[in-house]
Amino acid sequence: MTTHRPLPQTEDPLYAPYFAALKRREIVVQYCAACGHQQWPPRERCFACHSDQLGWQAAPQQGTVYTYMVAHRAFDPWFKDRLPYGLVVADLGNGIRIMAPYADTDVDDLECGVKVQAFFERVDDDVTLLQWERNPG
Ligand SMILES: [Zn+2]
Repeated sequence: MTTHRPLPQTEDPLYAPYFAALKRREIVVQYCAACGHQQWPPRERCFACHSDQLGWQAAPQQGTVYTYMVAHRAFDPWFKDRLPYGLVVADLGNGIRIMAPYADTDVDDLECGVKVQAFFERVDDDVTLLQWERNPG
């Protein structure tokens, strides 16, 4: 039986600039032209001042594990053969924390504070996804 990989809605207008950036191997987050605040996840208005003058800025591609979980059950059949896998919330500084799958299959050494870097997984011509992998540096 073939299962289809569940994928995010990359054309959602709120997230489209983020997914477009991943295809260029960049991470972008929203920033507010009125007050300079950076925010993630994207929203219609600035969390800090409620302005709707939002744009996008490049974010760091390295961070530290703020928190994580290890999945031992698949929420979708596609993930069954990939168990166990990690999900990491990486702290990139400036209040930006982005959750993405952990790229490394060895999840035993995953812990808070570990340095991670972006791994861009090209799924197909339309979709590239972010994962976090251990930063050897
Ligand atoms: Zn603002």
